[in-house]
Formats: sequence, C-alpha cells, structure tokens
Amino acid sequence: MPTARSTYFKGLPSCGPSGAPDKSRFPFPGLEHFRCRITRKALVAVRISSDLFNAFLKCSMKCWLRASGEPASGGAYAEWVKAKGRSYHATELERLLSEPKDEVAVSPPSENLKAAQWRLAANLSVRAQMKTDVLESEVQAVERVPSEGRGRPAQFIPIRFIFTDKLSDDDKLLLAFDAFVLSEATGGEVGLGKIIHGDDHGEVKVKMAALAGETRKCVERIATLLSRPTPPELVLNRHCGECEFQTRCRRKAIETDDLSLLSGMSAMERKKLHSKGIFTVTQLSYTFRPRRRPKRMRDKRERYHHSLKALAVREKKIHIVGRPELTIDGIPVYLDVEGLPDRDFYYRRAHRQR
Ligand code: SF4
Repeated sequence: MPTARSTYFKGLPSCGPSGAPDKSRFPFPGLEHFRCRITRKALVAVRISSDLFNAFLKCSMKCWLRASGEPASGGAYAEWVKAKGRSYHATELERLLSEPKDEVAVSPPSENLKAAQWRLAANLSVRAQMKTDVLESEVQAVERVPSEGRGRPAQFIPIRFIFTDKLSDDDKLLLAFDAFVLSEATGGEVGLGKIIHGDDHGEVKVKMAALAGETRKCVERIATLLSRPTPPELVLNRHCGECEFQTRCRRKAIETDDLSLLSGMSAMERKKLHSKGIFTVTQLSYTFRPRRRPKRMRDKRERYHHSLKALAVREKKIHIVGRPELTIDGIPVYLDVEGLPDRDFYYRRAHRQR
C-alpha cells in the first residue's frame, strides 16, 4: 500500500515517533499539526461494510469490535434478533422472487451495473471506492427501472427487509447506506429506496436525498474511528441488552468501575464529571452530600442524584431522599400489562382491587 508520505507529501518531513511534527524541517509554520493529522488518516485504508455501518448506528464500540474481529461473547437475545432477521430476509425474498417478473437475477455480478438487464436482483454485492476507503454493501434486493429514453440512465431502487412492525431511523439510514454505495458504484443518483417490514409485509418508500448528508457524515466518522489503533471509549448504553458483546463490555465496565454502569446518566453529565476528575462509580459515591431543602422548594420534586445511587451501590444499601408519604384516596387498583410494543399489542392484562 503506498504510504501517505510517498503519495501525498513527497519530500516533506515526517512526524516524530510520538506523532509530533518535526517543526525544524517543516516549511509551513503553523500548519504542522494539520499536516500530521492528514498523514495519519491517509495511511490507513478502511473497509466499511453495511454490517459495520449498522453496528456504528447502535454504538461506536460495537463497530470497532466487529471491525477488529472480536468474537461475540454470548447474548441469547442478540442471537435471536440475528436469526429472526435472517429468516425474515429469506422468506420475504422468496415471496418477492415468486411474484411474476421478467428477468430476475440472484447474486448477479456487480461490475458493470449500467449494462445490467435484470429487473429484480437479489443479494447484490456492491463495492465502491471513496477516497482511500472501500465501501461494501450486500444489498438484499434491487429493483431496476429501465431507462426512459436516450441520455436517461436506468434507476436502481435498493430494498431492505426488516422484521419489525415499527421502523426506526436506523433502519432508514441502513437503507440509505445501500443507496449511497450503489450511487457511488454506478456514478448515478439513487433517489428512492424501499423497506418491506413486519408480519403484514408493509412497504415503505424512503426518499434517499433527505438522508444522503447524514449517511456521508456517518461514513466519515466510521472511517476516522476505524483508522485509529485504539478502541473508542466504552459507554454502556440502551442497545447493550441486544448486543453480542454484552458480556465482554459489562465485564470491562465492572473492572474499571465505569460511570456508564449507572444507567440514566447522559453523555453530557458524564463529560462534566470527567472534567472534574471523576471517572468511577466509587469516586462519585463520595461526592453525595445530603442537604436540607429550603422551605420554598418543599413542594417541588427532588432532583435525581446519580451520586446517591453510586453511594447505594458502594454501601449495598437502599437510600431514600426525604420522607416519602404515600396517600391513596379511594380504592387502589393495581394493573399489570404485558404486550409487544412493536405491534402495539397487549396480550395480557390483569388488575387487582383491594
Ligand atoms: S455491549 Fe454495549 S457498549 Fe459494548 S459494544 Fe455492545 S452496545 Fe456497545
């Protein structure tokens, strides 16, 4: 692989072993750091697949671990989600291919897409070069709308199969990544994508132009992340419950007593604590100070104290702020509801009256 120095900065002095520029030899005073940053980025060619893009949308650490080949460390729910996604993809693809359509191709070559004759292709591997990085997408299905006349190229419409009834922004961005790679590979615009989802095979059309900017930003952020030799900061988050690295990350967070073990703490709050030199739950637990509430604040709700939670974890005790009083007027009724939020479906309701 050509190095950045030989390709882009021939003749310019290199960074020192610490990454610091050799100011004495660099001919543009004040721009040493700028040159150094470009050199490091350009040295590493990154491969970004749809799998890595999907992981990045959930958590940057997940993306980094997948890219570095870290073995999955369990997680029954993660396995179930993967299996369900695969089976939904296979069933829906079969259904789509069984519909009468001319010229259907399965895993066709992607070299000269402009000359393709198929109307519907399944499992199309597309590759494109973006600066030094390689983008790869395994597009689940693509519809090709033939050219409507001279000088008007054929249109490609990527299709994704998502098993959930409700679609998230991440599902649409993943489709936008397929469209982005297709567009880079064909050199033409991909204006529309489709998502087939849920038990009722709902079809949603998504305009790609609205998501192109965000997709490009994500691709650039992934390239920066993966060109670094060290992993990003570990932050446990809401996606951990369905992640294949759950056991590994939780173990690491417990080992370092990381602040993200306290669920509900925002990135901003964590950053603020870091700036004060507080990095662990134990450190935070020593910062809680019970204070007498002024009279004027008596009717207002007490604010949430992460430090009190940290104290409770350290002392293995339950702490209560103030003296809670529970006054119930009338007949108390306890409700227990279980359901599938994705389908807005409640399959069990129970209530108890005293
Ligand atoms: S377990 Fe959580 S922190 Fe670790 S990679 Fe997965 S989502 Fe990210």
